Amino acid sequence: MTPALKVGTCPCGSSRSGAGDDSVHREHHSEWAFGIPVPKNTAWSNRLVVVTSQSPIAWRRLTERVGRLPRREGGYDFNSWSHGGGEPEETLEHFRAYLLEADGHVVGYLAAHDSDRHRWWDLGERSRYGELVDSVRPRIDMIWVAETYRGHGIGRTLVNALADDSGCEVADVSWSTPVTDRGRQLALSLSPDGVWVS
Ligand SMILES: [Zn+2]
Repeated sequence: MTPALKVGTCPCGSSRSGAGDDSVHREHHSEWAFGIPVPKNTAWSNRLVVVTSQSPIAWRRLTERVGRLPRREGGYDFNSWSHGGGEPEETLEHFRAYLLEADGHVVGYLAAHDSDRHRWWDLGERSRYGELVDSVRPRIDMIWVAETYRGHGIGRTLVNALADDSGCEVADVSWSTPVTDRGRQLALSLSPDGVWVS
């Protein structure tokens, strides 16, 4: 279920009340609606880039910038991408992000890492999760699509990219809870019999 919007809050998650920071809201709103312009001279393979905690800093910073958009929209405490600064580092959990480009902008974002505690969920709205199972799976930490690009299969493309890149099937991917209503619809379309959650 989509939480009710607070009075004075734009769908992009910005407050409308602060008269002084209108230009800040305008810029954020435009990025939320159309994505973040792709840096010049960057190579995209089939419109997709995989960024890891070991990628060059420019990519990690771009990913952090994209991660601010779902954070603001959803009112989350933390950015789903926490490897925007510092030296490249290897992480045991293989933190990674999949960025999708369209019309010269980053319009899709999926952040993931490997995790080993999951439960099965048949995706029924009232169903309980199954027994805890230990098995390493890629876990979706966040999926986000720029507002004007929603409903065009970008979420599906990103989850497929995660599964391909991780060497598993789409049904093997784990979804972080709580799964939003939009996330549940996406999961149903990709794996109608159920998904792993964590
Ligand atoms: Zn806005």
